[in-house]
Amino acid sequence: MSEILSYLKGQQDAIAETLINLTKAESPSTNKDLVDRCGKVIREEFERLIGGSVEVIEKTEVGNQYKFGYGNESAKDQVLIIGHLDTVWDEGALKIMQEGNTLYGPGVFDMKGGLTITLWAIKAIKDANLKINRNITFLVTTDEEIGSEHSKEIILQEAKKSVVVFIPESSIAPDGSVKTERKGTGHFSMKIEGISAHAGINAWEGASAIEEMAHQILDLKKLANRKEGISINIGLINGGTRANVIAKEATAEIDVRFTKKAHAEKLTQKIIKRPTFIKGTKIEVTGKIERYPLERTKQVIKLYKDLKKIAASHGYELGEGSTGGASDGNFTAGIGIPTIDGLGPVGDGAHSEDEHVDLTNLPYRAALLAEIILKYAANPN
Ligand SMILES: [Zn+2]
Repeated sequence: MSEILSYLKGQQDAIAETLINLTKAESPSTNKDLVDRCGKVIREEFERLIGGSVEVIEKTEVGNQYKFGYGNESAKDQVLIIGHLDTVWDEGALKIMQEGNTLYGPGVFDMKGGLTITLWAIKAIKDANLKINRNITFLVTTDEEIGSEHSKEIILQEAKKSVVVFIPESSIAPDGSVKTERKGTGHFSMKIEGISAHAGINAWEGASAIEEMAHQILDLKKLANRKEGISINIGLINGGTRANVIAKEATAEIDVRFTKKAHAEKLTQKIIKRPTFIKGTKIEVTGKIERYPLERTKQVIKLYKDLKKIAASHGYELGEGSTGGASDGNFTAGIGIPTIDGLGPVGDGAHSEDEHVDLTNLPYRAALLAEIILKYAANPN
């Protein structure tokens, strides 16, 4: 067994305590005061366990963000780990509860477990007294669950200085596989204007926005391609005023997912530039691609192989998989920085009432992260 793993196994209760402390400080994305309170907890934990550099990135609309550093700050590049403090849970919505070695609670899996293993991975590196050539930067954001509008800039800025990015987001249940592929996402709004008329008196003079919308929806669905990994969902529609009036207006919200960055531009053009089907109607589509995909590139496969080797030396097999959901790893992968995701704990139930993590596995995930960080921070080549 590696020294790092045996050290962390000896710290299992202390690791669980860090996770419980972070979980108790509930942090719904939209409540700045609560997220800031959780931010103080992670800062205290970082200072208590590691004591490296701390930079607070003050925010007005969302919780303050943190940039923690350990290692060699004068190095020209760094190893970056990104995590988010915010959760999808309102305060008190989910009970914190321990049953045997399983911890249930808001954000334990997505992703306070990941924040915990990152703190302890850096702590293990520190206590191993190894020479670090690159800086290890741990960026903690506060709005991932609501689209990362307030952190995208700093994420990209830090990613550009990085040789590699690790995302300790929840792993793939139930076996803890890492995520070597994430879909890109886009969100668009469609607005159709028709000509209203009385459905009985002058039915042939109107131009129905709803009828036009029906054509548009079916036409949009033609862009979906299962083999290519492109999906389109029109998840919300609105329109019309009453049954006997030809609808003057209709709107729709469109969600797009795709696996290849090369598809982004073409999809955007096809969604935005839309001819109408019914004479007299007008259409306007706004929106954009929000996150590029994390593609399973050669670099990502290399990172996975590195991780698999470490896991094998710890006595288990590490799997890989893909997911349709996006994370902040999509931003860093989108600008070409090798990124691997799903390094968080073994557990299940992200965004569901069953959210939980396996406490006995935390030392293994912290050791996995510590050793992959060391591979890139201690022996740059
Ligand atoms: Zn997350």
